[in-house]
Amino acid sequence: MKRVLITGGAGFLGSHLCDKFIAEGFYVICMDNLITGNIKNIKHLTSNLNFEFYHHDVTKYIHISGSLDYILHFASPASPIDYLKIPIQTLKVGSLGTQNCLGLAKAKQATILVASTSEIYGDPLVHPQSEDYWGNVNTVGPRGVYDEAKRFLEALTMAYHTYHQVDTRIVRIFNTYGPRMRLNDGRALPAFVGQALRNEPLTVFGNGSQTRSFCYVSDLIDGIYKLLMSNYHLPVNIGNPNEISIKEFAEEIQAIMNIQTPIVYHPLPVDDPKQRRPDITKAQTILNWSPQVDRRSGLMKTIDYFKNFTQNELYELHREFKS
Ligand code: UDP
Repeated sequence: MKRVLITGGAGFLGSHLCDKFIAEGFYVICMDNLITGNIKNIKHLTSNLNFEFYHHDVTKYIHISGSLDYILHFASPASPIDYLKIPIQTLKVGSLGTQNCLGLAKAKQATILVASTSEIYGDPLVHPQSEDYWGNVNTVGPRGVYDEAKRFLEALTMAYHTYHQVDTRIVRIFNTYGPRMRLNDGRALPAFVGQALRNEPLTVFGNGSQTRSFCYVSDLIDGIYKLLMSNYHLPVNIGNPNEISIKEFAEEIQAIMNIQTPIVYHPLPVDDPKQRRPDITKAQTILNWSPQVDRRSGLMKTIDYFKNFTQNELYELHREFKS
């Protein structure tokens, strides 16, 4: 039985990866320090004999006994609110955490896939973004802690590949949504859905003309799995190229939820990218991957997930976020 370590395994993407690898017949070691991850996301796996949870901070030395075939490094705060709240942890998990994972991959002769991000393109001057665009990042701005940590992660991964011949993969993840996103992580989708469920106005930042391209989580997980099983070492964008303005996105959520709460406009956060859309030619040609889930179906599944929150949870998590 092949053994895989997933860091950040109790988070949004990490927990879906745990499900995928269990379904594919792997033994899964899920590691998380539960700062932004939640044990609830993996509760359904804890009685599975092919699954173990390792409560550990990836920036500290990692002990794994026995063999490891694959490592997926997904530990990191990933929303602008999170990295404003915990900037130093964000830098450490992308740098020290990545180094620990790469060192472990080298020691165990495991293949490692690291999670990078569309944020490495910063506020892009080229549209859509293909992997050969080097980006436009403000190193000292509020998003710099995440963007630069992930840029360092890519550089370190390539160095381990060329210098130590570690078998590496780098995925650049664009905006992804689906069940198990945190209601209070401050990102557009959970913010809008939570507001709609509480009958509050939807808060659009700026005039809402900035664009994003949203990928449903099952598509992303399939792309990541295909990349891991390929032999391609350079970065690959995985995301859905269907682009929408944030104002239209808020209106789409209002329409699907059949809720008439108004939209209110708040100031645009510093360095908020004006447009973002992945060029996925590489993923299509090298991995034979393209997204399958249209936004309406994906949104309906995600909204259903949030509808299962109790009123207490809806307000409790919201209060926690505001403080
Ligand atoms: N956004 C918004 N209202 C919110 C939360 C986010 O208008 O309550 C905007 C945000 O300014 C950005 C877009 O939605 O332009 C996507 O933000 P998100 O935090 O989801 O992701 P990222 O900026 O990392 O793509």
